[in-house]
Amino acid sequence: MQKIHEFHRQSIQDKEAFWAREAQRIHWQTPFERTLDYSRPPFARWFVGGRTNLCYNAVDRWLDTQADQPALIWVSTEVEQEIVYTRADLAREVNAAAAILQEQGVVKGDRVLVYLPMIPQAAFFMLACARIGAIHSVVFGGFAAHNLAQRIDDARPRLIVSTDAGSRGGRPIAYKPLLDQAIQQSSHAPERVVLVDRGLVPMTLTAGRDLDYATLRARHLDAQVPVVWLESSEPSYVLYTSGTTGNPKGVQRDTGGYAVALCASMEYIFGGKPGDVYFSSSDVGWVVGHSYVVYGPLLNGQATVMYEGTPVRPDAAILWKIVEDHHVNALFSAPTAIRVLKKHDPALLHRHDLSSLDRIYLAGEPLDELTGKWLSEVLNKPVVDNYWQTETGWPILSAQPGVQEVPTRFGSPTFPVYGFDVRVVDETTGRDCGPNQKGVVAIEPPLPPGALSTIWGDDARFVKTYFGSFPGRMTYSTSDWGLVDDDGYWYILGRTDDVINVAGHRLGTREIEESVNTHPAVAESAVVGVADEIKGQVAVAFAVLRSQDLLSEDGAQDRLAAEIQRVIEQRNGAVARPARILFVTALPKTRSGKVLRRAIVALCERRDPGDLTTIEDPSALDQIRQAL
Ligand code: AMP
Repeated sequence: MQKIHEFHRQSIQDKEAFWAREAQRIHWQTPFERTLDYSRPPFARWFVGGRTNLCYNAVDRWLDTQADQPALIWVSTEVEQEIVYTRADLAREVNAAAAILQEQGVVKGDRVLVYLPMIPQAAFFMLACARIGAIHSVVFGGFAAHNLAQRIDDARPRLIVSTDAGSRGGRPIAYKPLLDQAIQQSSHAPERVVLVDRGLVPMTLTAGRDLDYATLRARHLDAQVPVVWLESSEPSYVLYTSGTTGNPKGVQRDTGGYAVALCASMEYIFGGKPGDVYFSSSDVGWVVGHSYVVYGPLLNGQATVMYEGTPVRPDAAILWKIVEDHHVNALFSAPTAIRVLKKHDPALLHRHDLSSLDRIYLAGEPLDELTGKWLSEVLNKPVVDNYWQTETGWPILSAQPGVQEVPTRFGSPTFPVYGFDVRVVDETTGRDCGPNQKGVVAIEPPLPPGALSTIWGDDARFVKTYFGSFPGRMTYSTSDWGLVDDDGYWYILGRTDDVINVAGHRLGTREIEESVNTHPAVAESAVVGVADEIKGQVAVAFAVLRSQDLLSEDGAQDRLAAEIQRVIEQRNGAVARPARILFVTALPKTRSGKVLRRAIVALCERRDPGDLTTIEDPSALDQIRQAL
């Protein structure tokens, strides 16, 4: 097992030499002068002075050798369509999209918000932005008007790309009305909206603002848009993620560091080589969709599968059918999807020829031992649990078969990945923990290439949020608990904050509470994450009403709960809908007014609520028990 640890040691002890070597994987229009500038901790700048471009590296660089090979394979079981774009086709579409953006006045540094389902145009516009140095911000299609308005106000996009509708389970889900509402709610309306009309639901265009993508595309289909070479640290994108406040954080990514980190990870972690086919079932609205649907595989000369659909439609063999049809070498999915498949006929797992598939990667939420073991045994394939965050952009802990095959242990994402100086830190003393001692998973800065550069527009928040957790020590906190066992295997033990993870989707309980509290009948609320067999966690909301009389009528409780659900759906999207909304007359709080979330979660999970010496009103806990 020495090689993997030695590789890691080199990447930490001699980081500049390590990354200077890895940087040769990509094309630099102007070579970098310095590998790392860490003169202003905790801000790290990688490959200083180098000029490169993500779109050039993902598309143009492969045209000489792979023009006619598949680059983007789009499979939709929602609209029953499949399109294979070769690298040349992709180049053509991306150039057309870039020409559309330029014609609408988008220039380097402008933000373009992409609110699209899993359709190829999402990748075209992301790459088109990268081509011209515009900064894309993709917003997950499952988010609703309020989330979207918040992101519009923070990113202030010059242009938005959207569509009439997405589709889920064969049923269209309108996007355009949500977008119109969001623009109305926001104080920074974009000048232009480009709309991909899928013909799924009727939509009305706003004159002077909304433009039809197909018309523009036809006009620009043979455009050749010159690449804008960016200095390595210039931003490529902003991706919003939930935190402990109601305001999402815009994770800002650089250009050169991201390209190098992803390219290297495709080989070392995902065992990929140019010409291979990679399939990540994540949505482009999440970080996995950015790193491993769009950029990673394409940067490494691999084809990527983009899938619009669920893992169980038309039946629970669809992921395996895609693997067979397109000779997929590596599949990346989420533990929730596998837990869902486990409930279906196991024969479905053997209906397709999976001989092309080397490994299955799972991430985004804890992979329970049973599920990991089950999948690996039933398919007779290695399952790689990898742990990371939107912020880091690529895995922090993972097996690295491209470095060395090592024995894995279910329940553990194995070892630290090269580049990440990961520690377990005691939150009170700020000192490193010993083996088997639980602490906070932390990363010694400088963060490696590809990790976030800052929070969009808010350097101070970046420093405070991520580097302000430990006394006397400026170390990045992941806000996850973890420990390392005697053999050096790492374990992730849940979040230290109020962020929850529903089916691999990171949600801030604060954001959902704010929505519950907008209902006129609600005085206050607490939203917690409760363990769930399939989704990992689900949200459960406890609401205190302004007046108990509101519950006196027959059926009032169900009616109010339904109304609150509707508010959440309208503001935060269906993804944030709590599994249950329960009414209590008081929330359990400390004497200083802090809601005792851990005690509420414990009761919901039928566990002992633990130390309650600070509780203000013990009867509030009885109410939670009764409500449950
Ligand atoms: P996101 O930024 O949405 O990808 O969410 C990141 C969070 O998901 C992490 O901070 C963890 O809490 C959780 N997470 C991601 N991958 C894993 C994993 N392999 N095991 C355990 N937790 C994970």
